[in-house]
Amino acid sequence: MTFNFDAQSKKGCFADLHTHTTASDGLLTPSQLVMEALRVGLKAIGITDHDSTDGLNQAMEEGQRLGIQVIPGVELNTQVDDEEIHILGYYIHHDLPWFQDMLETIRHSRWTRARKMVENLRRMYNLNISFEEVEQEVTDGAPGRPHIARALVKKGIVKDVAEAFEKYIGTDCPAYEPRYRLTLEEGIKAIKDAGGVPVLAHPGLLKDQKYTMMAIELGIQGIEAIHSKHTPEQCEYYSILATKHGLVVTAGSDYHGEEGEDMPKLGDVKICCSVIEQLKNLAKK
Ligand SMILES: [Zn+2]
Ligand SMILES: [Zn+2]
Repeated sequence: MTFNFDAQSKKGCFADLHTHTTASDGLLTPSQLVMEALRVGLKAIGITDHDSTDGLNQAMEEGQRLGIQVIPGVELNTQVDDEEIHILGYYIHHDLPWFQDMLETIRHSRWTRARKMVENLRRMYNLNISFEEVEQEVTDGAPGRPHIARALVKKGIVKDVAEAFEKYIGTDCPAYEPRYRLTLEEGIKAIKDAGGVPVLAHPGLLKDQKYTMMAIELGIQGIEAIHSKHTPEQCEYYSILATKHGLVVTAGSDYHGEEGEDMPKLGDVKICCSVIEQLKNLAKK
């Protein structure tokens, strides 16, 4: 879905600010992702791997070579009560040792959790799947649910990733395991302390909208109003909400390199590059 935000023309400068690489659970390497951005006609991409900034240097080098602007970012999963709230952080000073230590702690907990979930699938559903098979799906990063889903597809247990989430590993499924997370407040603070700009990711996917308001109160500086899983009404609603609170409106496809009908393509969601200046101005130099 392409949301017509700002006056857009085909030749303009467009950015997709939410993408994943092999540094977390995406399928393309950082270089491949930048090449894909060039191919689909984007001028800029934000790389926002889960709990990792390991893909950024390679992507920025490739970006320089190909003339694609790469906006350094990260996506942190935070939690309040039962709600999982994703926070994007742009222009973080990602080489700060304390920031890397924090990401390392979060990633380590992912391995323990993925093992537990595979164990649950075997015990609760008698599925013939091993942790080694999930591990094979991980390229550089730590395992996440998409890796488990892809292993299930490969084994022919489900027909696609969506079915795996629906039947076995979605948050409401018995085999689901929560993982170590920062609170919303800690996530926002960590991004600001690292000099970055915290943006609330895909608020339309939250079960309870009170958490959007909570994020605003806790000092979020932008809202990803335009996201591949938002309806046009949601895109408009969150754009207005962000503007009302003086926050930056961002847009992202949440591209994972996945092919498939229900999967977003790179640049499916894009926004005028002027948003990049707004983010830069908010980031600490
Ligand atoms: Zn997310
Ligand atoms: Zn994401």
